[in-house]
Amino acid sequence: MTVVTRFAPSPTGYLHVGGARTALFCYLFARHHGGQFELRIEDTDTERSTEASVQAIFDGMQWLGLEYDNEVRFQSKNLPRYHECLERLLDNKLAYYCDCSKERLEKLREKQIKSGEKPKYDGKCRDLNLSKSPETIVRFKTPKTGQVTFIDLVRGEITVANNELDDLVIARADGMPTYNFSVVVDDADMGITHVIRGDDHVNNTPRQINLYKALGFSIPEFAHVPMILGDDGARLSKRHGAVSVMQYAEDGYLPEAVLNYLVRLGWSHGDQEIFSKEEMINYFSFNNVSRAASAFNTQKLDWINHHYMQQADPKRLAILMAEHLEKTGHGHFEVDRLMPLVALFKERVHTINELTDLSLSLLLPISAYDEKSAQKAFKSAAIEPLERVISHCRAVNDWSTADLHQLIADVVAELEVGFGKVGMPVRLALLGQAQGPAIDAIMRILGQQETIHRLQQAIAFINSQTTG
Ligand code: GLU
Repeated sequence: MTVVTRFAPSPTGYLHVGGARTALFCYLFARHHGGQFELRIEDTDTERSTEASVQAIFDGMQWLGLEYDNEVRFQSKNLPRYHECLERLLDNKLAYYCDCSKERLEKLREKQIKSGEKPKYDGKCRDLNLSKSPETIVRFKTPKTGQVTFIDLVRGEITVANNELDDLVIARADGMPTYNFSVVVDDADMGITHVIRGDDHVNNTPRQINLYKALGFSIPEFAHVPMILGDDGARLSKRHGAVSVMQYAEDGYLPEAVLNYLVRLGWSHGDQEIFSKEEMINYFSFNNVSRAASAFNTQKLDWINHHYMQQADPKRLAILMAEHLEKTGHGHFEVDRLMPLVALFKERVHTINELTDLSLSLLLPISAYDEKSAQKAFKSAAIEPLERVISHCRAVNDWSTADLHQLIADVVAELEVGFGKVGMPVRLALLGQAQGPAIDAIMRILGQQETIHRLQQAIAFINSQTTG
């Protein structure tokens, strides 16, 4: 049997972290078994579905590298098929028209809740043989007796008695099929062998299994993956930070890092944390998917992204940096100019955006000095060391090969002071802040002219402070 899985998002927002993790599991399971992974857009809710959300799903999947097989299927284009299946159930008396008003259903519900019963439709129209009218919906005749049992690949055996389930609505008054109905028709028609989805759907599965049986379709296997929580234990939402996958692209994460992070949300393989896509495919199995909800942890994502940034081709990081600089309104920078900054800073950062921020001090003129550091390091006593460094810089013939580390050491030796007396004001002059990489590395990147210019600028600043 060829394994066929599908990711079936409703296009009512962005592709969020939970959806992407479900898509990844569907993808890995299919690839692991040499099967097919399909994408189906569940867009029958015309009021909530938007083109922009469809695009967001495509973008997110493409960014993560979750390639699907075959053409994308849109439920909105499959209405005749749903109607055909609906007719079949109606003809076979396995479904019926119902004209119960909203008010009646609401009252029924209130009454049931009051008397401690589980609210469900009471079957008033089940045997009335009503005909179709503009107000009628279609309900499925859930068997009154018996039970539904299935083996969930994550949760194990699940059994639900049919009398716990009511006659679910399978088509609305406007003829639109409901989720539970269209999902069964499509999963069967697409030959889906394994339905992998979030466990918010676990209660739908027994209803869907009854529909499979009524329609004479063979029943797939099911795997319901636990939800993702924020680090405070509440369901992951916007207030925990980014929940849209593309927000991670915006925030400067690498797709392979996000993918690696997502796979570990609920799945494990021993103690291993870092997985290439091939490894994920090789090792993936539902035996190692946790039943418990997993908590999102941005620190861990940062750690993983840091790891992948060190592995990545520096040129790729420089290109991403250039894109980020452009997007944030800093203008166009040549990739070659950014390469040394990647080498200088990448070990210190978690994301492309952090890398860019750190690099800005070297790419743009210094607009202000860190106030606290300036108070400490920019005293009149700093003028002499700064001037000495300037004159040593001027004497350099070939900046690219000069020993700039020695240059600073020479000034320290000449002045017979501690390194900090030279190092602190020089670094502040060159970077605008007291912390940063080695001074010689900064000088090399800035170049001779800009280094001298920044040192002079610092002297002018100190003079203006002391005279003003
Ligand atoms: N459209 C449903 C959702 O986004 C799909 C659920 C399923 O995979 O069956 O939740």
